[in-house]
Amino acid sequence: MISKLQAVCQSKCPKCRTGNMYTGSAYGFSKQKMHEYCPHCGFKFEIEPGYFYAAMYVSYAFSVAEVLTLALATAFITHSESPWTYIAVLFIAIVVFAPFNYRYSRLVLLHYLSPKVTFDPKLYGERKNSADLKG
Ligand SMILES: [Zn+2]
Repeated sequence: MISKLQAVCQSKCPKCRTGNMYTGSAYGFSKQKMHEYCPHCGFKFEIEPGYFYAAMYVSYAFSVAEVLTLALATAFITHSESPWTYIAVLFIAIVVFAPFNYRYSRLVLLHYLSPKVTFDPKLYGERKNSADLKG
């Protein structure tokens, strides 16, 4: 059985940690799309209407951490005093990290910040038959 952190890293469903939450990878050529329901256990990811607006706050925290880290790294590496150096680096970083932030803000929200959504070990792994899910 995989841990919560592994489930987040592998973009797994918070309920069963088996089904994938997204189609494709964060940086593939195909468009990144989230399943509406878990393909393994049928859990509805958007647990209430507009639920993923809250992921904006998580995404914002990610962005602040990334931008601060990169701004400091740029300052240490280049010793630049030109604002254009920082604008260029941070603009590129924001674009590059956007798919990552989109994906992992929702995963962190569902796995760590949603007390109503809990892991059910009975749903983990291969499904034996549909009767097991109902009981
Ligand atoms: Zn699931």
